[in-house]
Amino acid sequence: MPGWLGGLIEDQCFFVGCEVHEKKKKNEKNIFCLHCCTSLCSHCVPSHHPSHPLLQVRRYVYNDVVRLDDLEKLIDCSHVQPYTINSAKVVFLKPRPQSRPSKGSGNICLTCDRILQEPFHFCSLSCKVEHVMLGGEELGNILHQFKESELAFSHDLEDQEDVVVQMVTPSSVLEDPLHCRSTVHSVGFMWISKQGSV
Ligand SMILES: [Zn+2]
Ligand SMILES: [Zn+2]
Ligand SMILES: [Zn+2]
Repeated sequence: MPGWLGGLIEDQCFFVGCEVHEKKKKNEKNIFCLHCCTSLCSHCVPSHHPSHPLLQVRRYVYNDVVRLDDLEKLIDCSHVQPYTINSAKVVFLKPRPQSRPSKGSGNICLTCDRILQEPFHFCSLSCKVEHVMLGGEELGNILHQFKESELAFSHDLEDQEDVVVQMVTPSSVLEDPLHCRSTVHSVGFMWISKQGSV
C-alpha cells in the first residue's frame, strides 16, 4: 500500500486539534499532504512545502469524507457509494460504525456488510482497498499515477527555458514592422549565443 493511502485511511486522524497551533482558532486538521502522508491544519499550510500535493478532507455525519473528484485522480473509486453534499460528490474514507449488524439481505458492502444502494459494492474507500488486498489483487491496478504537480499549486520549473524561447517570437511580431527584422535577428542571435554558452 502506498504511504499516502495508508495515511489517509488508516494512520491519520482528521478534525483533531493541531499540536503545533494549539492556541489558534480553527486548528482542526482537515488537510492531508500526499507527499508527507501527514495531516495538517489550515495554519500549517502556508509554511508547508508549496509543491506538495494536498487533499482536503471534509466532515459529513461525523465521518471523514473526500471529494470524489479529488480522490479519483489518485485511485479508482468505482463501486464505492458516493454521497452528495452541497452539490459535490464525496466518498467516505472509512466504514461507519454500525448500530446493529445487517441481516445480510439486499445489496451490502462486500467488506463490512453495511446496506448500500444499487449498484455499489463498498461503503467507503477503506472497504474497497481492504477487499482488493484480501482478494490478492494488485493494489496498483486501481491506483492512478498522479503527477504531484497536478495537485499542487506550484509551477513546474523544469523546461522553463524552453517556454521563454517560445514566447520571444510572438512578442517580436507585435513590434513596429520597421524594426521587426532587426528584432528577430537580434533575438535569433541571443538565442544562438545562449545555446553556445551551454
Ligand atoms: Zn508535505
Ligand atoms: Zn497546524
Ligand atoms: Zn464497508
